Amino acid sequence: MLAIDAIDTFYGETQALFGVSLAVGAGEVLALLGANGAGKTTLLRSILGLTRPRRGEIRFRDRAITRRPTHEIARAGVGWVPDDRRLCPTLTVAKNLSLGMKATGFRRWTMDEVTELFSPLKYLMAREAETLSGGEMQMVAIARALLGAPGLVLFDEPSQGLAPKIVGDVMAVIARMRGEGIAAIVVEQNPDVALAVADRVVVLARGQVAWAGTPAELAADPALRRQLLGGLQ
Ligand code: ATP
Repeated sequence: MLAIDAIDTFYGETQALFGVSLAVGAGEVLALLGANGAGKTTLLRSILGLTRPRRGEIRFRDRAITRRPTHEIARAGVGWVPDDRRLCPTLTVAKNLSLGMKATGFRRWTMDEVTELFSPLKYLMAREAETLSGGEMQMVAIARALLGAPGLVLFDEPSQGLAPKIVGDVMAVIARMRGEGIAAIVVEQNPDVALAVADRVVVLARGQVAWAGTPAELAADPALRRQLLGGLQ
């Protein structure tokens, strides 16, 4: 679904990613972990074309998207659930959701399906987005991504600031999406949340891939886990 080959990404003259490569298959959930400043958000921004890599290549469904504009990357089927949700604050939930609808070639989720996934959305439709709680905003952001018919969804710290019950609901939705063949990259500060739902793990450190493997490999080696994720536990 997604193949990233040796990308270097810069902010001005400051290099944030150094030769990062990874791949995500259809319906695969990849946990992207690492300390503050490791480059996780920059990697998502690179995929989305928001901060274009200076070198290297990103392919989505075997088409190069490295230097495509963000709206084309979205239309190809890459969805995004940003850490700050990015809802239009003075528009209603219904309007925010309808703004996300588009055709991509992947299956288009219906409004009924997303309200079945997140039942509180049913009675929030007429509310302005700025009046929602953090958990409700997260539900709208995920529903909006699904209405955009994604083949891959990038989640930037989906558990941040949410009550444990809502974190559980969000992870259950990611697992359900996997069942439908939708791939996901889940950036998390909280490794346990991401590892519980992930098929594979990539750990970034100082802009480079420090380790890649499965959650089981990481769980079986506490010393490795401490070394890679010590600051995050
Ligand atoms: P966090 O978990 O704290 O969000 P992260 O792993 O997502 O961290 P990034 O936000 O991708 O890390 O940052 C990677 C590096 O790029 C850091 O050194 C950061 O200071 C730098 N950086 C990020 N955004 C910018 C920017 N807009 N301008 C300049 N440097 C930036």
